[in-house]
Amino acid sequence: MSLDQRRAWAAAAAVPDPEVPCVTVADLGILRWVRMEGPDRAVAGVTPTYSGCPAVLAIELAIEAALREAGFDARIERVMSPAWTTDWITGEGREKLRAYGIAPPVSGSASKMSLFGEVSVACPKCGSQDTEKLSEFGSTACKAHYRCLGCAEPFDYFKCI
Ligand SMILES: [Zn+2]
Repeated sequence: MSLDQRRAWAAAAAVPDPEVPCVTVADLGILRWVRMEGPDRAVAGVTPTYSGCPAVLAIELAIEAALREAGFDARIERVMSPAWTTDWITGEGREKLRAYGIAPPVSGSASKMSLFGEVSVACPKCGSQDTEKLSEFGSTACKAHYRCLGCAEPFDYFKCI
């Protein structure tokens, strides 16, 4: 990676997710790569999380703005394949989500399915697996609303796709 490319990556990677500002686009794994096209032109590859999620455009604009601010002529390339999954969220990103009070997604292989095919979601505050889903949609369409039966705290669960 050239110095410019590293600088461009750092600028783009620091952009917070507009819906969950405690994590960056790099934490979520939606910033795929940054490459240089000529000396001052940076192109960022972005994979949208949920198709139709209104945050996608906001994320792309924020990354473009961050690259411009760092002195680059910026372009965003939408990378549709392979499709984003919550497995791309980094370990650091999962820790940040938990610290923020959002249960990080249970990854495909690690998920424990209950009798009804629901993933068991651990409470981000006390770690209890004894939780119930209150509604399919939390504060945003990408999250479901849960309540912990252990500590009685409501929390958002970052839905798996
Ligand atoms: Zn709890």
